[in-house]
Order: sequence, then structure tokens, then C-alpha cells
Amino acid sequence: MGKYKIAVIPGDGIGPEVTQEAVNVLKAIGEKFQHTFTFEYALAGGCAIDACGECLPEETLEICKHSNSVMLGAVGGPKWDNVPNAQRPEKALLGLRAELGLFSNLRPAKIYDALAEACPLKAEIVKGGLDILIVRELTGGIYFGERGYRQGKYGEEAYDVETYSEVEIKRILKNALEIAMQRDKKVCCVDKANVLETSRLWRKVAQEVKNDYPEVELTYMYVDNAAMQLVRNPKQFDVMVTSNMFGDILSDEASMITGSIGLLPSASLGEGTFGMYEPIHGSAPDIARENKANPIAAILSVAMMLKYSFHLTKEADAIEAAVKTVLEKGLRTPDIFSQGTTLLGTKEMGEAIQNCI
Ligand code: NAD
Repeated sequence: MGKYKIAVIPGDGIGPEVTQEAVNVLKAIGEKFQHTFTFEYALAGGCAIDACGECLPEETLEICKHSNSVMLGAVGGPKWDNVPNAQRPEKALLGLRAELGLFSNLRPAKIYDALAEACPLKAEIVKGGLDILIVRELTGGIYFGERGYRQGKYGEEAYDVETYSEVEIKRILKNALEIAMQRDKKVCCVDKANVLETSRLWRKVAQEVKNDYPEVELTYMYVDNAAMQLVRNPKQFDVMVTSNMFGDILSDEASMITGSIGLLPSASLGEGTFGMYEPIHGSAPDIARENKANPIAAILSVAMMLKYSFHLTKEADAIEAAVKTVLEKGLRTPDIFSQGTTLLGTKEMGEAIQNCI
């Protein structure tokens, strides 16, 4: 029996709809397994700009910092497309990651048997299912390096610098190896060590960290090959760990393999057990407030919260099993609907999953 305080940031578009279903599922888990989850709601994104003139109010950060973890829906939408760049709703995400020290982004790519036909790869390539976890470094590398314009040999030029410190590499590698211990104990470190100095440092540090995890098999792969292998033979991977930019690209590629954006959760972790959990999709303004959004990505995000922040593995497994059951029963939201299955709205899908817990 545990007590957990969760900051809930529904955000914009379909964010509030899918978040509500995730909260309801947590309540069902609380009842079944005798845990107390309390929820404190906070604003971020476009709705925060409307209410307080900024995408990430201080109050929201305070609420997050005083919680055990954060559940976020999605932010952004056409209404705020013309606000100045520094105040765009999506900046709230960067602010939350930076302020909350979230340096490790976990993106699972899983194929459910019931949805195997949604996978764009040949059936024999993903036969028996697929379960990859991409661990992406989130607060360093080229996206945060020195940048600018200058006069070069041929006139104006632009530059973006990739920098990684040993400390940054060590903590993400430790995170990946730690997680691999709870899975198939295989980590593939993806880099470009044939060209980049930062990648060579990644390999050196990875080897040192690995010494503390003798049971884990650590391999290395160049990112261009990894991009190919993800479509040629994705089942060879268990945990993939990589830098910010490579992870950005590979995690989107891996998510496409699974077929639907509405099914994929993510976690952003820092030191300790605190984390922020969110579906990988955006605010989908085209279907907002129409009860059409798939809540499964948000629901699986709270399953990740239970597993990674609260170490409630049994409870997390119960959510994943409930999702699997409803999919096997042929229940579908419009994004994954096919002939012969049963069409449900966001709310009804959420309720079906709660009923299976
Ligand atoms: P999106 O993910 O919102 O939508 C892409 C497509 O997928 C749309 O057709 C949408 O209807 C569909 N889709 C997304 N989630 C779905 C779900 N749960 N169920 C069913 N269908 C779903 O991406 P976009 O259209 O590029 O962006 C829309 C807005 O969201 C933009 O303002 C963008 O900046 C923002 N965005 C926010 C986040 C975030 O909050 N983490 C991430 C990506 C994009």
C-alpha cells in the first residue's frame, strides 16, 4: 500500500481527453491494489498562455516539484501558431525537462499481436511480436550545444556543436543498463564512432559503466546501420541507448514500425525515481473534443510511471495486460479501426480498459 502524489498536466487539444482516461485507469489500479493516488492539476502549453500569458507558469513547476511524478497530455495547436517562438506552447516541454532535470527519455516500441497488421514491415520480420526500448539522452548534445552564424571561407555559414561530458554519458548509460537488467539484459549503444569524437567518448564511458553490470551484453552499432537494422531485423534489439539527435530520429522510426502513434507512451527520467510521463503523440487538433482520440498511449504512459517511478511492476503489468485484452477483444478507436472490429470512442476505450483491471 503506497501513497503517491501525481502532477497532472492535461495541456491542449486531445491532451485533456486522453489524460482523463489515464487518470481513471490509475484510480482503478489504486482501488484494486490498495494504493492512494492523489492528483494535482496544472497548466502548461497553449491553455497556460491563455490563462496566465506564459506557456509554463511558475506555479506549474512548483506543483511538479512537489509531486512524485508528472503525467502530461500534449501541448500546442493552431491557435498558438503565431505566438513568438520563445513563448510557443511546445517550449513548455523543454522548460519542464530542464527544470525537472529529466535527462533520459524512454520510448518503447512494441507490437501487439492483435495489431500486427498495422505494422508496415513484412509479417515474418516481426513474427512473435516486438519489444524495443529506446533510451535517448535528452538534455545534451547538438540540440543544446553552441550555435550561431559566422563569416567563413565561402561567406556566411551556420554551425551547431555537439558536446558531451563524461558525466552526461555515464548517467544515461547507467540508466540504460539498469533498465536492461529488468528486461532481456541486452543493450546496443548507437553512435557514429567511425567519425565523431563524442561517439568515441560514449564508447569509452559505456565500457566503463558496463563493468558494473556483468550480466548485460553491451554491443555497439553505427547509427546508419541501426536505422537499417530497425527495418531489416528489429527483433535483434532489446534496449538501444543513444545521443539526443540520434535518439530523436531512431525513436520516430521505431514508432512507425508499430503502426499507430496513438499507442505509444514515453517516460522522461532524471536522477532518482522522479519522472514525467506522456504519450508520444501531439495534441491532434484535427480530432480534439470529438471523443475520437486513442487514449492507449496515455494509459500506457501511466503504466510506465508505475514501473519506473514507483516500482509497482505488478500494477504496471496489470495495465499492459488490460490493454492487450481489449485489443484482443477487437475493440478499436478510429485510428486503429479495421473491418470486423468494434469502434469505440476515447471514453469508451478508457472504460473498457478500466473494466479489465
Ligand atoms: P500529432 O501527433 O498531434 O498528430 C499527428 C496525426 O496523428 C494527426 O492526424 C492526429 O489526429 C493523429 N493522432 C495523434 N494522436 C492521436 C491519438 N491519440 N489518437 C488518434 N489519432 C492521433 O502531431 P501534429 O499534428 O504534428 O501536431 C499537432 C500539435 O501538437 C502541434 O501544435 C505540435 O506542435 C504539437 N505537438 C506536441 C507534442 C507534445 O506535446 N509532446 C508532440 C508533438 C506535437
